[in-house]
Amino acid sequence: MKTYETEIVVIAAGPAGLCAAVQAAEDGASVIVCEKAPTVGGAANMGMGPLGIGTKYQKQQMIEVSLEKAFTMFMEYTHYNVDARLVRRYFGQSAETIEWLEEKGVEFEGAYRYFPKSEATWHIVKSNAGIGPRAASFMNKALYAQAMELGVTFLLETPAKKILMENGRVSGVLAADQNGEEVRISCRAAIVATGGAGCNPQMIKEETGLEFGKTVFNFAIPGITGDGLRMAWEAGADRLPVRIEMAASIEGADELPGSVANIFQQPNLLVNRHGKRVMNEEQMQNATYLSNVAAHQKGKVCFSIVDTSIVKYYMRNGVDNVSLVRTNPDVSDFLDGIKYAKEQGNTSVFEADTVEELAEKMGIDPEALADTVDEYNDYCGSVDEEFFKDKKYLKPLRKGPYYGARVRPGGYGTVGGIRINENCEACDSECEPVPGLYAAGADACNIYDDSYMFLLPGNSMGFAVNTGRIAGMSAAEYVQD
Ligand SMILES: Cc1cc2nc3c(=O)[nH]c(=O)nc-3n(C[C@H](O)[C@H](O)[C@H](O)COP(=O)(O)OP(=O)(O)OC[C@H]3O[C@@H](n4cnc5c(N)ncnc54)[C@H](O)[C@@H]3O)c2cc1C
Repeated sequence: MKTYETEIVVIAAGPAGLCAAVQAAEDGASVIVCEKAPTVGGAANMGMGPLGIGTKYQKQQMIEVSLEKAFTMFMEYTHYNVDARLVRRYFGQSAETIEWLEEKGVEFEGAYRYFPKSEATWHIVKSNAGIGPRAASFMNKALYAQAMELGVTFLLETPAKKILMENGRVSGVLAADQNGEEVRISCRAAIVATGGAGCNPQMIKEETGLEFGKTVFNFAIPGITGDGLRMAWEAGADRLPVRIEMAASIEGADELPGSVANIFQQPNLLVNRHGKRVMNEEQMQNATYLSNVAAHQKGKVCFSIVDTSIVKYYMRNGVDNVSLVRTNPDVSDFLDGIKYAKEQGNTSVFEADTVEELAEKMGIDPEALADTVDEYNDYCGSVDEEFFKDKKYLKPLRKGPYYGARVRPGGYGTVGGIRINENCEACDSECEPVPGLYAAGADACNIYDDSYMFLLPGNSMGFAVNTGRIAGMSAAEYVQD
């Protein structure tokens, strides 16, 4: 058995754990981080950047996102069903955190919206490949370097297994090294930040009722299996709901050529298994709303449908909406993409000469879908009396072949599970802090109520970096007290 002694153990090195370690070390505490993976950064290595409110970038860009506006918007969105003090502290600290990250060597491109109706709170990290997925890995690298400089010890490939308690207080952490040998670290405080349970199908089913690969399609990174939730609950922390951070997608989008997924994400006709429209498709850009809509339908599925004139229009002019994640409007290879998908045996994309034939292939009543298409085409000639979609997105479907794709609820992983207060102290069922126990990031992210808040983008990484810092500050103060 290997043994270590320190003041604070940070369990995991995602953005929450990295920020906790740097902050606690800056505040004078000795810190050991145990991380399950061979590398640091967690899910944030896939992402682009954290939220900031009232930042210097927003001021430079003449964008008004005040703390009051964001806080009020957030609390109304969640029906005040979340901890207002925690939200207030997180949002209130977020601008300073952007500058704190800059001091650590992180650079930002500026403040961005995820889609036009969202606010410009997404602070995208500058990388050597321009704006795009994985940019935030540069933030993680800078934080890691800073932690090393501050003397933090990292035990990689060393998953934590148990938080040890003595007289109701944290006294150590048990982990296992690469060879499975036990590692025992004595400490006075532990910060749990293992990123939730996005890769644990059984826990997701138990906690949310959703079934991996059937009713929810997930893009969480491997290794995020709910370890921190289990350890914190066993150590006395209260158990709050674990939810999916919903973000819908075209079924099997990862295996489809970009142009195919791109066209089916545009705001055209979206129907359910009954052949009925299900929303103002303009709102499809908010992947949480789309996910909630899909989750409410029979079989938890919707179908995005276009005809040949819409496809040709997009092939000539580019798509209506691009995002910073999917930046390329060019879909000129859509037809090749459909052919390729078929050759690969893809079963989530459909093609047919008539609406009725397409309906049959998709398992929808042909007459019902034909009626919906007729009705929708009428709206395209006047106004959308059903869901009030903006006229600029009303494109009729008249010319075969027709194309359709399944849209499914999806998620970045889970959020929530461990009760914390605004100091990121893990609390028991009486809302009293468990001495020496702290939690941050996705494990403790119970601030969205039932739906992720995409209207203020960068929220989950923002919560991770800010609660990581708060947990680091609180734990350092506790061990030095
Ligand atoms: C594709 C993708 C893109 C995203 N883009 C954005 C974005 O641009 N902006 C945004 O706000 N959010 C984004 N997110 C979400 C964001 O990345 C997460 O909310 C954030 O990374 C959560 O941080 P965390 O530190 O809590 O957990 P994670 O980043 O998930 O890290 C958890 C860490 O815990 C480790 N671990 C697990 N179990 C143990 C154990 N027993 N012992 C030790 N270590 C353990 C894991 O190996 C991992 O390193 C994205 C997510 C994905 C999947």
